[in-house]
Amino acid sequence: GGSLEFYERLRAIVAEKGLLVDVRLEKEPEHGIGVHKSGCHGFCEMGPIVRIEPAGYLYLRVKPEDAEEIAETTLFGGKPVERLLYKEGEQTFAKQEDIPFYSRQTRLVLHHCGDIDAESIDEYIAMGGYQAFRKALFTMEPADVCRLIKLSNLRGRGGGGYPAGSKWEQVLSRPDEIKYVVCNGDEGDPGAFMDRSVMEGDPHSVLEGMLIAGFATKATQGYIYVRAEYPVAVERLNKAIEAARGVGLLGENILGSGFSFDIRVNRGAGAFVCGEGSALTASIEGKRGMPRVKPPRTTEHGLWNRPTVLNNVETFANVPRIVQNGGDWFRGIGPENSPGTKVFAISGNVNNTGLIEVPMGTTLREVIFDIGGGIRGGKAFKAVQIGGPSGGCLTSEHLDLPLDFDSLKKVGAMIGSGGLVVMDEDTCMVEVARFFMNFTQNESCGKCVPCREGTRRMLEILTRIVEGKGEMEDLDMLEELADTISNTALCGLGKSAANPVVSTLKYFRDEYIAHVRDKK
Ligand code: SF4
Repeated sequence: GGSLEFYERLRAIVAEKGLLVDVRLEKEPEHGIGVHKSGCHGFCEMGPIVRIEPAGYLYLRVKPEDAEEIAETTLFGGKPVERLLYKEGEQTFAKQEDIPFYSRQTRLVLHHCGDIDAESIDEYIAMGGYQAFRKALFTMEPADVCRLIKLSNLRGRGGGGYPAGSKWEQVLSRPDEIKYVVCNGDEGDPGAFMDRSVMEGDPHSVLEGMLIAGFATKATQGYIYVRAEYPVAVERLNKAIEAARGVGLLGENILGSGFSFDIRVNRGAGAFVCGEGSALTASIEGKRGMPRVKPPRTTEHGLWNRPTVLNNVETFANVPRIVQNGGDWFRGIGPENSPGTKVFAISGNVNNTGLIEVPMGTTLREVIFDIGGGIRGGKAFKAVQIGGPSGGCLTSEHLDLPLDFDSLKKVGAMIGSGGLVVMDEDTCMVEVARFFMNFTQNESCGKCVPCREGTRRMLEILTRIVEGKGEMEDLDMLEELADTISNTALCGLGKSAANPVVSTLKYFRDEYIAHVRDKK
């Protein structure tokens, strides 16, 4: 808290000296000082954060009353305010780029977050924004763009990991006159806030990715489905859409090319299941957000039964960089089967909670210890829940496992959308499993029996065990129910509902047994 108050205070000080300039299209205005808001820097633990350009100083945990000192010492004096800089042991880091939390990251998707004013299309354009769309629109055919995305092997960042280029090609190949592009911004996993930061911090990158997808698949309308709990994201996306329309980048006959495309924002109503593709499109259509049986797939019968490209926020945000730099460039980052970067939200018992972006294939150890700064309070690492309520837990034996779509599947977890909840030695893993089962059970839409009833029974058993009233047979019952639900539930929510229980039973069975043995 206090960011806006600080911002107003610093602006007032600079304005009083007659030095305030509003244009921030060049990093070093010659005759003045710009004071600007930006999206999230990712270092949540250390906020509010102030970055000084062009020196690169990063001030952490800034309070409104620090405005005077920052103005005097840095803006008018040219020196850093030592006490506000990042420190690790004896070392002080003046520049953002040198802080280990940042220096070990590769920020492609988060590139503009915390740097540009999310509400200014001029800043986005000044940083090269919409050049990728222009390149696609004026120098490529739709099929070329689909091929390029396929060549890059960009896989869906929402969790499924399905190749985006194949999806786009399927939609392009449909003869329908009307097609849609839908962006899934219904990020509902507890502990996940990656898409929120992108929508709030760099909304134009999402619009640009969708525009390119629209051109590549010959679609004419886009929708962004944003969860209702993200009002700032909704506001910024709407402002970004208005601004893009204002400069002819959205609407009829874009830039005189003959291509027409527009985007609307739809607010979700708070149901986790609406993150599932068919439930999401049903919700946009004004129906109850419930998954349907597949096939047919969204690429054939999506929104209003039309062919639809459905990707998540992070996937679309990757697209402009790929179009600009090429598929080979993208495939050169991370492992061949899962190229590119992944944005993770790290929370829980870790020193540096926040939002990070690393090449796919980075190990859990690097993420938790090098970037995350290790376990809070000097405690021992116990486990990390990856992929939210649909994911699984990883333990110290997985610390050197590269994080990518395929390696995690092999150990019964999933990368999911990128939530990482770190747990220390004091965490009760049965309680963790109960927490996630409670979440899933509450969010089950009730359409199919295995998920509706099965998750309820599993939650009852887990509660019984946590309360010290469980029996040994309960462990077998949990495994049997998990097996049945994952094999018979209709959608991904149900199919993966038991994952946290299965993985904690696998790696921390002794804790379940201890609960049963220590019966009250
Ligand atoms: Fe609904 Fe669960 Fe069935 Fe999915 S698996 S359709 S969430 S009841």
